[in-house]
Amino acid sequence: MINNISRRQLLRVLSVAGFGTVLAARTVADETGKKAAASPEGSGWASVRKPIPATPRDRYPATLVGGKVIQPERPLPVIQETDVLVVGGGPAGFAAAVSAARAGVKTMIVERYGYFGGLWTGGIVLIVLDTHINVKTDSTQVMRGIGGELLDRHWKIPGTIAYRPNTKHNPTTDPEATKYFMDEMIAESGATVLLHSWATDVVMDGNAVRGVVFESKAGRQAILAKVVVDATGDGDIFAAGGAEFEQWLHAIGLVHRRGNVDRADLGKLKMKSLGALEPLPSVNWVNLRGPMSDGLNVKELTRLEMEHRRSIWQATQKLRGTPGGENVFLLQTAPQLGVRVTRMLAGTHKLTGDEVRAGKKFSDIVGIGGGGKGWPIPYGTLLPKKLDGLLAAGRCISTDEKLIENMRLIAPCLVTGHAAGAAAAVAVQSKCQPRNVDIKKVQKLLKDQGAYLG
Ligand SMILES: Cc1cc2nc3c(=O)[nH]c(=O)nc-3n(C[C@H](O)[C@H](O)[C@H](O)COP(=O)(O)OP(=O)(O)OC[C@H]3O[C@@H](n4cnc5c(N)ncnc54)[C@H](O)[C@@H]3O)c2cc1C
Repeated sequence: MINNISRRQLLRVLSVAGFGTVLAARTVADETGKKAAASPEGSGWASVRKPIPATPRDRYPATLVGGKVIQPERPLPVIQETDVLVVGGGPAGFAAAVSAARAGVKTMIVERYGYFGGLWTGGIVLIVLDTHINVKTDSTQVMRGIGGELLDRHWKIPGTIAYRPNTKHNPTTDPEATKYFMDEMIAESGATVLLHSWATDVVMDGNAVRGVVFESKAGRQAILAKVVVDATGDGDIFAAGGAEFEQWLHAIGLVHRRGNVDRADLGKLKMKSLGALEPLPSVNWVNLRGPMSDGLNVKELTRLEMEHRRSIWQATQKLRGTPGGENVFLLQTAPQLGVRVTRMLAGTHKLTGDEVRAGKKFSDIVGIGGGGKGWPIPYGTLLPKKLDGLLAAGRCISTDEKLIENMRLIAPCLVTGHAAGAAAAVAVQSKCQPRNVDIKKVQKLLKDQGAYLG
């Protein structure tokens, strides 16, 4: 039993969302593995090796022409046509897909890695900050709706979420639980899922995005959609579509986790803690800010990944060599490098820190960001100035340098993802472009789905 759901029930739910073949295959493999378990790896495994006809692979190699690498024109297989296509399965993309699918439109979500959660789970950034406003006194939870429900699933299973006594603000989650609950909610919503697929380009129809091109082990393929939600965090899709954007440098770090922290002697180490609280006993996570750099420069990403890992390793060895720290070990460096901000959409509305400070109100409000008195998020922050067929969500939406530190937190990303998914669904149902939706319909759908708009 997993979370009171039997394996059979789980398979049924997942098969609705297109997980069926994969999971069924894994179950068979598990069983075969059990039978062969007595044999050591390398012998007795013949039963799990089976030749199959080779999958044909389209060949359109680039060629060197006059010293330039030229790609030939090529047709792409269209593997799916959908109403809403969400690219990126971080907090924003997850919420967008669940919202659109629950609204009843055909929805697909595609993610480059093998799990949902983005920096939250894969970046091991575990504390969900700014879930509430007026934190000290009459606090109100503003991160409700899809994001609120996701946290509620953690609250029901002890050991998956940690928080300071007498408060449920800013909880810390177990990343494996978060990944599992995200799988569960996506599957239940009926959205179709494709993991291990990296979006590399757009399919355009005039000024509108009509689909996305992906690369995977299956080669290059396209998915067509009526509305695309760019939840890549880096604006990969709106940039490929030609939307206006700004590009920023920001601190790039690598989060890591320490094990056996409860067996350390903090007194002897003269330290207050060995990292931040986690739901798992004996484990702490350690944030790392890192130097200001360009998160779109792959050479820089490579350098920082290796440099951070080296310094984390050396710091751990030093800790283990210090009286009181002998038992502590490096449990994990995050699978994903911590890129905070790269491209920011130039939206039809750029929300500024000054507007928030002045308490400006917006008739097209689609969510509220937490922390302090809170701040309204207008729909225009998700809408490109000119590009059609697309909405942005998450840390790459249209804000200024004063607000981005709040906007990029997990809770507001869940909120803007929810808003983008709902707006995309309304656009499909109304047969119009996202910029022409009746905002009252979007707000009603958001409220019906439990979102908080004040
Ligand atoms: C080091 C660090 C510490 C932080 N600390 C905190 C904290 O303590 N509390 C807090 O609330 N927030 C914190 N944040 C911020 C927060 O984690 C992120 O801003 C938030 O996760 C952004 O959500 P998102 O969905 O917009 O993007 P992401 O989480 O980046 O998710 C984007 C998703 O899209 C996928 N993707 C990207 N490009 C493609 C592509 N081309 N094709 C297919 N898939 C793609 C990615 O794999 C990923 O799953 C921190 C961030 C960092 C880097």
